[in-house]
Amino acid sequence: MGEIAEDTLFADIALPIPVDRLFTYRIPDEAKGAVKVGSRVAVPFGKRKMTGYVISLGSEPPEGLDLKTIVSVLDEEPLLTPALLKLASWMSRYYVQPAGIVLRAILPAGIRGKGRSVIRGDVADRFPAEPQRPPLNHDQRAVFDAVAAAVVEGSPRTFLLYGVTGSGKTEVYLRCIEEVLAAGGSALVLVPEIALIPQSTARFQRRFGGDDVAVLHSRLSGPQRATIWRKAAAGDARVVIGPRSAVFVPLKNLRIIVIDEEQDPSFKQEEKPHYSAVEAAAFRSRSEGVPLLLGSATPSLESWSEATEGGITLFTLSERPAGGRMPAVEIVDMRGRDGIFSDELLRAMEKTLRDGEQGIILINRRGHAFYVQCGGCGWIDRCPNCSISLTYHSRGHRLLCHYCGHHRPPPDRCPRCGGYRILQKGAGTQRVEMELQNLVPGAKILRMDLDTTTGKTGHLGLLEKFGRKEADFLLGTQMVAKGHHYPDVTLVGILAADEGLNFPDFRAAERTFHLLSQAAGRTGRGMRGGRVIIQAFAPGHFIYDHISGHDFPGFAAVELALRKQLGYPPAVRLMLFTVSSLSAAAAEKAAQAVYEAFEREELRDGASLLGPVAALVEKIKGRYRFHVLVKGPFSGESKKKLVQAAEEVLAGTKGIDLQWDVDPVNLF
Ligand code: ADP
Ligand code: ZN
Ligand code: ZN
Repeated sequence: MGEIAEDTLFADIALPIPVDRLFTYRIPDEAKGAVKVGSRVAVPFGKRKMTGYVISLGSEPPEGLDLKTIVSVLDEEPLLTPALLKLASWMSRYYVQPAGIVLRAILPAGIRGKGRSVIRGDVADRFPAEPQRPPLNHDQRAVFDAVAAAVVEGSPRTFLLYGVTGSGKTEVYLRCIEEVLAAGGSALVLVPEIALIPQSTARFQRRFGGDDVAVLHSRLSGPQRATIWRKAAAGDARVVIGPRSAVFVPLKNLRIIVIDEEQDPSFKQEEKPHYSAVEAAAFRSRSEGVPLLLGSATPSLESWSEATEGGITLFTLSERPAGGRMPAVEIVDMRGRDGIFSDELLRAMEKTLRDGEQGIILINRRGHAFYVQCGGCGWIDRCPNCSISLTYHSRGHRLLCHYCGHHRPPPDRCPRCGGYRILQKGAGTQRVEMELQNLVPGAKILRMDLDTTTGKTGHLGLLEKFGRKEADFLLGTQMVAKGHHYPDVTLVGILAADEGLNFPDFRAAERTFHLLSQAAGRTGRGMRGGRVIIQAFAPGHFIYDHISGHDFPGFAAVELALRKQLGYPPAVRLMLFTVSSLSAAAAEKAAQAVYEAFEREELRDGASLLGPVAALVEKIKGRYRFHVLVKGPFSGESKKKLVQAAEEVLAGTKGIDLQWDVDPVNLF
């Protein structure tokens, strides 16, 4: 972008405000030459000073405007490369967000100036050295050959590598990256936030040396991030590993992008501009001509269906090269039983304790969803229109469907078996821990949940303690299902497995499958094998057959057929509009107005509408939230029209906030 005309006087600047246009500012004489395309600049806006991003330079002043002047230039050299500006422009269109808001997400505040070097990994030697590079087996070689060829050709193909944990996916990533480095290129590796643990990043550092590998994790300061960006841009950090936001690192001579556990929800940003790092990576792959390698033990149904349709090339790793059998899975029928624990699980825990081994107990509970279930037969009240469970709301004492708004009072007896034992589900970790102390005396239990872990990385300390065998059982929610591998874990117990299935979300079965198979994958890694006990109230649910059979493709086939039948992604696309206000009535009225605006045929362009309905989490920070869900097919144009129509109809209403999310992952 270097070339700047002598007579450049004006800059078109994107500002991080919800207005979809650029603003022209005068470049002061002393800053001429310092303001470049991609520069961040401080500019006056109203009474405020704001950070803006220079999109283009010009010498012709726009007509009839009294222009303000740039206050200062924030970077000596712009951090935004032409490739990133292209990505930003695509994101701005795809997610229907102003360029300034997209650029603020790409280049978070605090990235400024020179930071201390943090490239060197100090963790590598805290873990035992890895055995020498093993020769790739037949299945691994097939992937490697295909990906390596795409690297050489500069082909923007997407590959999906499906294989259970321990099947050698990481080894394939390492080998592909080795090729890239040998050819003078660089590699971007995205991992779920929770996987940014020393144990897994150290493997990359050991393989490629600490100097070449940079790890972006959440504890880094802005200047430290900026250092990594600059080193990557200069070609000094050639392997960059990081979570979602690492997708924006402008690596010099990028030749491959790898995304491990590509189905992980942390790749989707829940705040504006609501982008998916997987989609952003796919765009970089296309625009920069590099292959994208997705890996997973339980792929997202989006990627899986694309793989079966041929848009993505699928490879499967079907065995564990280092040995270790898949654990035996038992489903325990909890219907008609009292208490949280089955005898089967308690006996297995006692045995684990006697044998000096370890166990992981997962409580499958998300958020604060409460639903009612018959304690006798396992019946759950579902919406007749949407086939998702109804959620109990104390406000109004009613059961509500969060998709269509259908509601009714909770039953006092079960309509299926006539029983009166109607349970309200949603047990806390603390209560489970207390019961366990009584039921398995002498067991040292480590509880991991939001109360015992502070901050994003607080759980690492607990995991390390468990790894040092300072406790017999690790008890907790989702957090215990992912990450570390402990050879001494021979038992995994899963409580209330169905709770996830009954979560009012069309992805409930998929999420539960992911979680249960991930949890199951925590055992059976050592030579002693492993055992998984799943306590279920609906043992007949189709998911359990596929869990015990370690059969993701079987699960995916059934689930994809259901999605098609019910009209959920990946069969359709979604766009979720959320309207919120301090007043429930005002929010509901606004959502109704948005819904009615969307009802106009020419606007919908073939899409269908659901709602307006109270959000599952109805109130956040005092604001009442209502949803309107649009099921597409969408074109870029139709998405924009919807946003404009919603903004128009809400213009002038006070205290209403409007958000929209393209391809939403959370529908809460
Ligand atoms: P994943 O990423 O699928 O969990 P890994 O790549 O971590 O699997 O491999 C699991 C274990 O198997 C690791 O200890 C790794 O070193 C080893 N391994 C991988 N590939 C081979 C191979 N071809 N031969 C022998 N051991 C291998
Ligand atoms: Zn019943
Ligand atoms: Zn419904």
